[in-house]
Amino acid sequence: MKETPQETKIQHNLQAGILTIDGFLGKDTRHFHEIIKADSRALIELEITQQQIADRMEYFTTEAFENYDGAVMIDDIYRVEYRSVRGKIICPFGHSGVFRKGEIILYNQFKKLTVSWTPLSIHMIREHCFFEGKGSKYRLEPAELKAALYDEDQG
Ligand SMILES: [Zn+2]
Repeated sequence: MKETPQETKIQHNLQAGILTIDGFLGKDTRHFHEIIKADSRALIELEITQQQIADRMEYFTTEAFENYDGAVMIDDIYRVEYRSVRGKIICPFGHSGVFRKGEIILYNQFKKLTVSWTPLSIHMIREHCFFEGKGSKYRLEPAELKAALYDEDQG
């Protein structure tokens, strides 16, 4: 499969030192198409869609963002904190618009699982099914993420 100029640009944007110091690929040597394909398959096995995951992350992010003073307890299970970072970032896939830098840390105290993401992570999952490369700082394993975002009944 021949890469289009747009795809070449995306693969470049994902490298370390282009949009962020660490980039989005970690130690993963796969093309972003391959990463996306593998994670799409994982979602099918998990019987969840990228939209459902993104909606759930958005829900926690909004709740945490509205609470400026540290962590907030949500639904008696999830402790969620928004840590703000100065600056904005653009989507490496070439969408217009900017995303707030910052980090959301969610602890599922029932399952004792912690996951963290950024506002851009939500966008990349919703629009691109991109969970980042293995070893990337905000790489989210679909199974782990799903487990952390839901309680026993749903997860
Ligand atoms: Zn995008």
